[in-house]
Amino acid sequence: MLNLAPITQDSKIFQAEKLLYNTRMLSEFDLIKHYFARHSHSAAGADPRIGLGIGDDCALLNPSPGMQLAISSDMLVSGRHFFPDADPAMLGHKCLAVNLSDLAAMGAKPLAFTLALSLPEANPDWLAPFSAGLLALADHYQCALIGGDTTKGPLNICITVFGEIPPGLALRRDAAKVGDDIWVSGTLGDARLALAGYWKEHPGLIRMDDDEHRQAALRMHRPSPRVELGLALRGIAHAALDISDGLAGDLGHILERSGVGAVLQLDALPAGPVLAKQAREIRRLYTLAGGDDYEICFTAPAAKRAEVVAAGAASSTAVTRIGSIEQAGGLQLLDADGKPVSIDIQSFDHFTSA
Ligand code: ADP
Ligand code: MG
Repeated sequence: MLNLAPITQDSKIFQAEKLLYNTRMLSEFDLIKHYFARHSHSAAGADPRIGLGIGDDCALLNPSPGMQLAISSDMLVSGRHFFPDADPAMLGHKCLAVNLSDLAAMGAKPLAFTLALSLPEANPDWLAPFSAGLLALADHYQCALIGGDTTKGPLNICITVFGEIPPGLALRRDAAKVGDDIWVSGTLGDARLALAGYWKEHPGLIRMDDDEHRQAALRMHRPSPRVELGLALRGIAHAALDISDGLAGDLGHILERSGVGAVLQLDALPAGPVLAKQAREIRRLYTLAGGDDYEICFTAPAAKRAEVVAAGAASSTAVTRIGSIEQAGGLQLLDADGKPVSIDIQSFDHFTSA
């Protein structure tokens, strides 16, 4: 809620806030220094691509000579993209993972990121695990935290990530060609199944014990960005994107931007291990139109099948061929016998949220 009433220095609200800040909360400066700045001076300090990290008005980057910069931002808002009581370590991981996933989908190599953080309070019990989860993933991909902004307000986390790619090799959405195979990395739908568990959707259809729900929920709270696969697909794949809003909708962006249609083998879509045990109707719906998967959907020439499989093996990432790019006709779904299937995703969703 936006409160536009002016807060004067002697108002009760101001005094209460000041007391809270002085007694329970760290100053903004201490907070940045303690939880985020050490990264710039340790991990990033060793990286010649980082000219200057946290602490000045701007960071300075030295991209490798001849490289293009790939840049993307993703904002995660409490109550909309994650539960307000989400585990802070997993949340730290997730908010960088979804940004790295965009770099992966472009075939870009991580370079650095900034963090804009709005926090209701500077609570060390939240900040310590949040920064640990965030920076562990950053270290894994040698992606240095180089700056950001910190303000008091509703919990909101916005990351901008910078990556490098040789000019001409980016995996763009407008590059699919008629005759391409369509592929997807990893498995789909377990994150959406976990959400159904929290919301108690389809109680008659979904059967999942607590252990299975926890397993599926890890896919939702701790996604794995497919950075290595994205790099291995440079020069092999034509078009690519990462799946955040469900395969059907996201693949639709490739079709629209490339001016083509597609046929998908509905029952070839790789379901997550927990989803694989569910009824066919749920399996089909959640692999096709789940969300929060952060897998890569890409197209590649049929002549490069062996190279795609080798790229999957080299990056230790499963890849599954799920369809083909056609001249036109939108997105058509076929069952295992090659018969057309129609799934009304919209009406199913409306039905479930009714
Ligand atoms: P300014 O007044 O120029 O906005 P700030 O006082 O907000 O600077 O920030 C000081 C330094 O700390 C800057 O280098 C900024 O990039 C960095 N910084 C601020 N917040 C964060 C954060 N959440 N994570 C990483 N670096 C941050
Ligand atoms: Mg600032």
